[in-house]
Parts: sequence; C-alpha cells; structure tokens
Amino acid sequence: MVAVRRTFSIWRRKAEYVYHDTLALAGIHPRLFSSARGARIVVYHGICQRDHLRFNNIFLLQKTFESHLRFYKEHFNVVSLDDYYQQRFREDRLNICIHFDDGYAGQLRYVLPLLEQYELPASFFITAIREAGHNILWNDFLGLLNRYGPPAMVFRQEPFQKQQGLFPHYVSTRTGLGLRETLMPQGFEPKAELIREFSRLVPFRETEDYWLQLTPDEINTLAASPWVTIGAHGYYHNDLSKIPVADAEQEMLGCKRFLENSTGREVKALAFPYGNYTAAVVEAAKRVGFSQLLPLGITHPDPTLRERLIINPYVSVTNQLLNIIKKRYDPWR
Ligand SMILES: [Zn+2]
Repeated sequence: MVAVRRTFSIWRRKAEYVYHDTLALAGIHPRLFSSARGARIVVYHGICQRDHLRFNNIFLLQKTFESHLRFYKEHFNVVSLDDYYQQRFREDRLNICIHFDDGYAGQLRYVLPLLEQYELPASFFITAIREAGHNILWNDFLGLLNRYGPPAMVFRQEPFQKQQGLFPHYVSTRTGLGLRETLMPQGFEPKAELIREFSRLVPFRETEDYWLQLTPDEINTLAASPWVTIGAHGYYHNDLSKIPVADAEQEMLGCKRFLENSTGREVKALAFPYGNYTAAVVEAAKRVGFSQLLPLGITHPDPTLRERLIINPYVSVTNQLLNIIKKRYDPWR
C-alpha cells in the first residue's frame, strides 16, 4: 500500500512538472515566481559542458546553470552569505543565496565568469584535500572506479561485486553494503588506500571536468573576486558526524587554516560534508571559529545553522525554481 501511494505521488508530481513545462513553453511563468517571499540557500556542486549525468547526479550543464542565473535575476533577489545571515533581504521577492560545494576546478572555469557577467554573489565550500597531497575527493574517485573498474574486486580482503544501474556501484558480497557506505563512516586512510590501489584503472585526464580539485592558487583567484565568499567543507571530505569528534575538530581547523593561508582572508563559514552533523560537531565547529554553519536538514537547532536545498539535475529550470520555492528536491529521475 505504501509503495502504491509512493508511485502515485511520484506520477502526480511528474504530471505537475509536465504541466508547468507546457506553460513555460508558451511563455507563461507560474505566478508563484513573482509572489514568492522569504529566503532560500541553494546548493550546486559540479558544472560541466557536456554529459552531466556521466558519473553521478550532482553535476549540471553550464548552460543550465546560466539559465538558473537568468531566472534568479529576473524573478528573485540573489544575496551573499553575509547578507543572508544578517537578513538583508528584499521584502518584495524571494531571496536566494547560491552555494557551490566540493571545490572543483571547473567552478573557476565555468562558474566565476557567469557570476561576474550577471553580477551575482555566490559562496564556495572547499576542502583541504590539496594540502593532503590529492587532487581528487575520495567519493569522486569511487565514482570513476564504479564506472571503469572490473565486474568484481577485492578491497581490504572484502570481496565486492559491481551492480549495474543508472550509476554502477560496488556492493560487498559479504555484508550486502555498498563500498561507498562501507567507507563513508571511516577516516581518510582506507579511502586513500582505495585511491592508491586502483588509480591505474581510471582514465583521469579525459574525465577531468568531473573531479579535478582547485589548487591553492586557483582558490586564491576565486577568493579575489568581489562576488565570491570562500567557506570550508572539511579537510578530507569525511562525514564529520560519523568520525570521532576530536578528529572532526582537527579536520575543521585544518581546513580553515588551509583556506585562510591560500586566500589571506578569514574563513568563517562551514558547510558540513554530505550535510551531516551532530550537536557535538556544532560545538567543535564554533570552538574552531566558524560562525556560519550549513547542513542540509536541521536536526539539532542552533542559531548558527541555516538549512540548504540541493539542486536537482533531472528537472527543468521552471520546475527547479518551483521546487526551490516549495523547498522540495524529488530524488527520483
Ligand atoms: Zn561535499
């Protein structure tokens, strides 16, 4: 019964999407665009020029992102992170704060020129993975391995089998748990080991747009733009809610120092990797010196926390804007 109700609600939402797309084709925008009020933070990750669903569902095409900016400019009011926290909002519009997570080199190449062209502010949340001697995040490496790795493999004496699907992925034949889920709660060492052990299987150069991380010089270039705020995103992109709090605190401090050394500017915002946190991690983040803390959903209320909404790569621009107004994501394709 629950499954039937879920299928029904998905199809009803899809019909609603088609309805709004049809109106948009006729040049009619929903009245909600201009009548929406309040404030939202929207989170993007990677921007690329083709094949944005090649490895995961967190990339968008540059031209789609540009359409978002055009619509924001026309219907909403875009504010910086500081303005968001100080509630310097327009009362006659929906206020939008744009975030980018994960520190991809493509954000400098494909995002910054558009922010400057449209004169819109955005914040970039970056890890310290470059200081750790890597140019790729562990989860992006796993995304590549999922695509290019063999049908079966052994990692740390555990056998894994590849399961096909929209995004292929490895599952332990012993525990039934995915390799991503197996590694997620752990520290960085097993993740680095995965990268060392399987690097030779992955065609890095031809896939660079989907994983290459910003260098410290590039972070500095980004930070120099008047439209940009730089924030922290953990040291190794570990899930800070799952590792020991003392380690999480070290990672937050290390990332803050790395970004401040790279840019010569104070970094006071932190976006939790994967959006996850605990009350103890919030306290540790404040001790380290962060005053703007950004999860996905808010599970432990605190005055420093602000909720964020992820952009969905499967819906049209019209429906994305409606989802932002209605605070929806819709995980299905
Ligand atoms: Zn992230």
